[in-house]
Amino acid sequence: MAAALISFSLLRNYTTTGRIVAGVRTSRGLCAHRSSINFLTPNRSPRYLCRASATHDEEAAAKAAAINADNGAPTIFDKIISKEIPSTIVYEDDKVLAFKDINPEAPVHVLVIPKFRDGLTQLGKAEQRHGEILGQLLYAARIVAEKEGILEGFRVVINNGPSACQSVYHLHLHVLGGRQMHWPPG
Ligand code: 5GP
Repeated sequence: MAAALISFSLLRNYTTTGRIVAGVRTSRGLCAHRSSINFLTPNRSPRYLCRASATHDEEAAAKAAAINADNGAPTIFDKIISKEIPSTIVYEDDKVLAFKDINPEAPVHVLVIPKFRDGLTQLGKAEQRHGEILGQLLYAARIVAEKEGILEGFRVVINNGPSACQSVYHLHLHVLGGRQMHWPPG
């Protein structure tokens, strides 16, 4: 029986790295696809250097993005919500928009965002009043997984803050699947 297990790694990851990862799995491991995972591999090929550089760039960009995180300015996602910037929409209702990530890290990589940011630049800004929309976002992630045909195994990630390489300060869930995930994430 392929009973899905919800990974309870949410809090563990958040408290240690600021990155929140939740997974649904049918068998053993989950793992992330961030390039920094290569630091864990014993045999460092020339590819390792490229990956190290990409990780450095990603970290620098994340630090820069965090500087203006709470200035109230619109983000790229506001333009996607208003359809000013085109995106491939997977699911939409009056509160939530889900669209394909422009730079996918897996065969299925969809971002789920609240249409009204309401102070939720990142999960770390959540207050009790956000409980309803946070639940709606998670439920929308499940709808996305079903629509994309990955309901039997997928991962939901929230990058929170510069140490987790958050680059857009409008709360978003990454829904990833369509390939074997591994664990631990990078
Ligand atoms: P973060 O790094 O903040 O967790 O994730 C932001 C995500 O937004 C990245 O995965 C990035 O590829 C995605 N992204 C950034 N700009 C655009 C865009 O204009 N369109 C789409 N569809 N995705 C974007």
